[in-house]
Amino acid sequence: MSTGKLTIDLAALADNWRALDSLSRCETAAVIKANGYGLGSAQVAKTLAQAGARHFFVAIAEEGAAVRQALGQGPRISVFSGHMPGDRDLIAAHDLTPMLNSIDQMLHHVEALPGHRFGIQLDSGMNRLGMEAAEWAALRDIALSQDPTLIMSHLACADEPDHDMNARQLRNFVEMTDGIDVPRSLSATGGILLGRDFHFDLTRPGVGLYGGMPFAEARPVVTLDLPVIQIRDIEAGEAVGYGNTWIAQRPSRIATIAAGYADGLLRAMGPKAQLFAGSSRCPVVGRVSMDLITADVTDLPQDPDTLSIMGPAQTVDDIAEAAGTIGYEILTSLGGRYQREYHS
Ligand SMILES: *Cc1c(COP(=O)(O)O)cnc(C)c1O
Repeated sequence: MSTGKLTIDLAALADNWRALDSLSRCETAAVIKANGYGLGSAQVAKTLAQAGARHFFVAIAEEGAAVRQALGQGPRISVFSGHMPGDRDLIAAHDLTPMLNSIDQMLHHVEALPGHRFGIQLDSGMNRLGMEAAEWAALRDIALSQDPTLIMSHLACADEPDHDMNARQLRNFVEMTDGIDVPRSLSATGGILLGRDFHFDLTRPGVGLYGGMPFAEARPVVTLDLPVIQIRDIEAGEAVGYGNTWIAQRPSRIATIAAGYADGLLRAMGPKAQLFAGSSRCPVVGRVSMDLITADVTDLPQDPDTLSIMGPAQTVDDIAEAAGTIGYEILTSLGGRYQREYHS
């Protein structure tokens, strides 16, 4: 076997949902966009439905169709991008709920699918998706007369609890929705941790379910073990990998591992990341290449058959930090070549 083994702990995933659900003073949904943050949206959706989630969010209608196929009828599946041109049949056939983002989307939706469920996304300051306050003021009465299922907005800085943007967006959201008798939702993982004022009627955690920050108490969900292809001895002064960026300072034993940046192990993480044999660290040496990583295994008592890059000793967020990015990007970059194993 020359591909890495990606193990996804579905019990930990369910535990993370239950933990975030117990922190939420309201219903807790689950965000499973981008193929369940790279882990497999069908398996993730079924596991979380079993744990009790009844409302799922995806980014685009195509993802919603796949989730509906996995879950069958019953759970609500909402689409952040709203009702895009060409989505009519997917939305109708798979009973998806578009979160309408603009007056144009609203007009398009009621014309294309009159009477079909929808929600509304408002912009409370992030300026990414959703209706602006003025747009909403113009549309509000008409929109409310059509019975939206949910009114939502999204926080830009929820992973920084002290950022004044949080209170500002909360104020804007309340101003735009006060006195409206429709369920409201403002918070993703970060917002849940900001406390009850931010919860409203529904929370929408994503990354925390998958073991990522800012949910520090999350159980890790992903383990990634990589097979060693070859081990060699080199002399002090010899170089390893492209560009001769690493030169051995001592006689060294170098293992070559079967995964690289084509598998989502970003080249930028380079020598700041480690591989692990159990709890023993083996520094990455030289450049990460497309299909291969080289590591210094000189200090191990015996040659390893596999080395781990994600697991208890090094989390998704540790890898992200080494690469100068966030856990979300590491998860959603996990490559297609791994052999995936789901444990429940
Ligand atoms: C991705 C996303 C979420 C989930 O965010 P996490 O930070 O992963 O919990 C919730 N709401 C919207 C609108 C999103 O785009």
